[in-house]
Amino acid sequence: MDLFEYQAKELFAKHGVPVTPGAVAFTRAEARSAAEKYGGLVVVKAQVKTGGRGKAGGVKLADSADDAEAKAGEILGLDIKGYVVRRLLITPAADIETEYYVSFLLDRANRTYLAMASVEGGMDIEEVARTKPEALARVPIDALTGVDEAKAREIVAKANFPADVADQVADVLRKLWRVIVEEDATLVEVNPLVKTPGGEILALDGKVTLDENADFRHPDNAVYLVHDEVDPLELAAKEKDLNYVKLDGSVGIIGNGAGLVMSTLDVVAYAGEEFGGVKPANFLDIGGGASAEVMANGLEIILSDPQVKAVFVNVFGGITSCDAVANGIVQAFTMLAERGDAVNLPIVCRLDGNNAAEGRQILDGAEHGVVELVDTMDAAARRVAELAAAK
Ligand code: GDP
Ligand code: MN
Repeated sequence: MDLFEYQAKELFAKHGVPVTPGAVAFTRAEARSAAEKYGGLVVVKAQVKTGGRGKAGGVKLADSADDAEAKAGEILGLDIKGYVVRRLLITPAADIETEYYVSFLLDRANRTYLAMASVEGGMDIEEVARTKPEALARVPIDALTGVDEAKAREIVAKANFPADVADQVADVLRKLWRVIVEEDATLVEVNPLVKTPGGEILALDGKVTLDENADFRHPDNAVYLVHDEVDPLELAAKEKDLNYVKLDGSVGIIGNGAGLVMSTLDVVAYAGEEFGGVKPANFLDIGGGASAEVMANGLEIILSDPQVKAVFVNVFGGITSCDAVANGIVQAFTMLAERGDAVNLPIVCRLDGNNAAEGRQILDGAEHGVVELVDTMDAAARRVAELAAAK
């Protein structure tokens, strides 16, 4: 789970990383009163889970409460790379002498953690990485020994931090590493980490990704899941432990195995071109051992998406054989009917692999008017696209 900047800074503060105070505002009036509280000279910052807010006009300095209200009006509702701004962070403006960059991230390719640091921080770190790679220090971090004093000093030296800030930066690095370890984060990034004219080091921006597999260890961090910014269908799916991602099309997709589901999205989009651009409505992987209940939950989520006009169930029988999946589908229909959600959209099923013939027989025998069996994935994709287009 990616955090908003204000949430990331809350975690930073909890671990002793120096940050400026801040208040979240949802309206111009709230922005004004927060700015009043901080004496007028503030930064109004779009809270969206994407970078480059500054360049997109989502970070603005204000010199009075009036000005903060006006700037809030400009930023609220702004679309930044597809994310609409609904909340703002109002924070006292810091004086900046120099902007640095520091981050820790899980380096999956090298099976380790990686520290990155640069004295050329600010908005264009990607540009620095591309054009002046020597200005971005990269230091591997052993997960077991982590960032001790020596490792922090190594990062500081390799990135050429000036002597007057070396102690403070080393201290911040050790504290940011604690965020990685103690919060189970896979990414912690500060850009810019600034030096003020008074020689103080401050984290002015923050990006944190928490490892959702470790959520159970951090009940306190559940507050960071902001319900009104999450798609309601994705939230309902999450509550049922389903791997579901909402997309924009009209063909509901259920499959077993992430790879199969990904390729199903591709073949449906491809087949859909012939029918005026029919597209998949979602990604949903029900995994290997799909029980009737999981199938029912998956169908329920998909059928509650008003954009869905037809559903494609694409199953390759492996450890869980097709007859078990077919029984699951039949039971799912019964369960849904009992819940008052009888299935009435066309459902195209393609069963292949282990015990495919038995599976098809079960679905045929169940005589559900809505289910149509198609033998191959391509033909099934074409058929479901045709049905969705006809609705
Ligand atoms: P991003 O563009 O999404 O990375 O947003 P940032 O929070 O990093 O802000 C972008 C830029 O705005 C920073 O690189 C700073 O130059 C500037 N900025 C942010 N906060 C302050 C502040 O408190 N004072 C001043 N003077 N500039 C700021
Ligand atoms: Mn930034």
